Amino acid sequence: MSKKVIIPFIVLAVVVAAISLHIIGKTYYELGFVLTKSTPSATNPPVMNRTPKNKNTPKKTPSPPLDATPKPTETVPNTTTVPPFSEIDLALANSLSTRSQHGATSNEQRNLIEKYGGYYKKDQGLKRIYLAYNLGTEYGHTHALLDKLKEKNVKATFFVLGAYVKEPNRSILERILEEGHVLGSHGYSHANQTNTNEWTVEKLVKDFENMDRRVKDLLGEDVNIYYYRPPFGYYNERMLYIARQRGMTPVFWSFSYADWGTEDTEDINEIYELYMKNLQDGMITQFHISNTDNIKVLDKFIDKAREMGYEFYSLDERR
Ligand SMILES: [Zn+2]
Repeated sequence: MSKKVIIPFIVLAVVVAAISLHIIGKTYYELGFVLTKSTPSATNPPVMNRTPKNKNTPKKTPSPPLDATPKPTETVPNTTTVPPFSEIDLALANSLSTRSQHGATSNEQRNLIEKYGGYYKKDQGLKRIYLAYNLGTEYGHTHALLDKLKEKNVKATFFVLGAYVKEPNRSILERILEEGHVLGSHGYSHANQTNTNEWTVEKLVKDFENMDRRVKDLLGEDVNIYYYRPPFGYYNERMLYIARQRGMTPVFWSFSYADWGTEDTEDINEIYELYMKNLQDGMITQFHISNTDNIKVLDKFIDKAREMGYEFYSLDERR
């Protein structure tokens, strides 16, 4: 039943994306400086009347992107991963499974994630590594991580919490974009949103809208977030459908560990061995930087992985 609905959306997505992709691509990394603050919940139109955002994008005259030099190794954009925003069918959303899932360990979970264009690994068969960090409680470590990534010339992906997107963190978020990393959403509200007593379809949609508003208010109207990692990694089919309709790719992970403690590990080699044990083609990580282990390990890990033929990428194929 859901296939009948999803397939026309995907066909439409490919056509519209093909027309507008170069414009969206050019504007994606620009940093605007629109500072008007608004209450997110007060400014959003009702869901059913929501104008698809892709209609607005082509009207803009793109100014030169910050990163204007064409990269010779630029990959061909994969339009199927960049669908435009579409209307969310509330009746359909309400009919989808609300069964709570976590991560991508079972076949059922992997099939569900793939059905909505999501990743838990990427480019399997290619020696590629996608470092991804959840960015909320970082105790001032993010600059050191960005310094290290810059030194090693590695692009990564940062899934930010709504609460992190605020003025005191503006310089960090701007630096993330300026240095070619990718911003994703880890939820406006960092709650287990599979609790359906509280998280109705309308409330879920509002959470996405609030995140969008918050990012644009702080970083500029041209900054779009295309990647979505649900809070705590808990999700249901409803959430994946809504994310997909809003043009976002759900992203899980193939490697995470209990790295959210604030104490550094005494022997960084233990962390290094853990990384190496989980190294595989298309690996996507879920790391935190509540301590500095995941920063300290990078020199050795990146060098070793490169020596083995691996390359590091952000999740974004559109640059
Ligand atoms: Zn989290």
